[in-house]
Amino acid sequence: MTTPSNYLEILKLLPQTNCKDCKMPTCLAFAVEVVQGKKTMADCPHLDQAVVDEYRVRPARGNQMEEDLAQAVDQLRSEVRKVDFAVAAPKLGARLTEQGLAVPMLGTDFMVDSTGLVTSRCHVIPWVHIPLLQYITTCQGVEPTGQWLPMRDLRDGMEWGQFFEHRTEVPMKRVIDGYLDMFKIMFEVFGAQPAEAFDSDIAVVLYPLPKVPLLICYWRPEEGMDSDLHLFWDVTAPDNLKLDALYYLGVGMTMMFEKVAQTHGD
Ligand code: SF4
Repeated sequence: MTTPSNYLEILKLLPQTNCKDCKMPTCLAFAVEVVQGKKTMADCPHLDQAVVDEYRVRPARGNQMEEDLAQAVDQLRSEVRKVDFAVAAPKLGARLTEQGLAVPMLGTDFMVDSTGLVTSRCHVIPWVHIPLLQYITTCQGVEPTGQWLPMRDLRDGMEWGQFFEHRTEVPMKRVIDGYLDMFKIMFEVFGAQPAEAFDSDIAVVLYPLPKVPLLICYWRPEEGMDSDLHLFWDVTAPDNLKLDALYYLGVGMTMMFEKVAQTHGD
């Protein structure tokens, strides 16, 4: 029996047709779930039984996931090294500096040098690091239009929409429920712009990346009714960031909000 050590090894064993028969949006997403122990190789109906029997995957320990994320960052850094920053900066909505690119994310500059190294006065977590590097390598520079869609209604976004709701909207609502007054202030710190045309109690547009705005609509709880929160991307979002990176970006922002609440909320 063989035990693959990370999701990339598992991915190589899969048909890579992204057929979704395993109820995952891509083979890559399936491989990550296998490493996390949420799915098994047998959940892909297109693998030979011999492969399923040969490759029994033990769920990854926490540090295995960190190693996998670090490996993904390394691969993206090698792509960033090929980018001409002077040409890319206007398309990205970034500034060219002596150190490289200054990319504003939620009101703070993240500096990216020519080796793909990212620095910021904020802690740079992989869930934000990965979409930032993908943005630099794949953004088409399409200007946002102000037309908003939930993740599931974006082009090819149906499958990712389910995961996005589960990993981003639900926990973000929970954290804002608990720290509403603080987040009204934090949204200003994050450079939020009010979106007054919406009938929610809070409607703000945040810029987690310069050409990938996110609309947050939050409704307070009322007599007999729970609170509610919905997130919307600009309709152009998939032109500027791949759907998987949009998902990571949403999860990364949610983790940041949770961290802010833990640090400043009590
Ligand atoms: S069923 Fe198998 S081939 Fe199809 S998306 Fe899932 S992992 Fe990939």
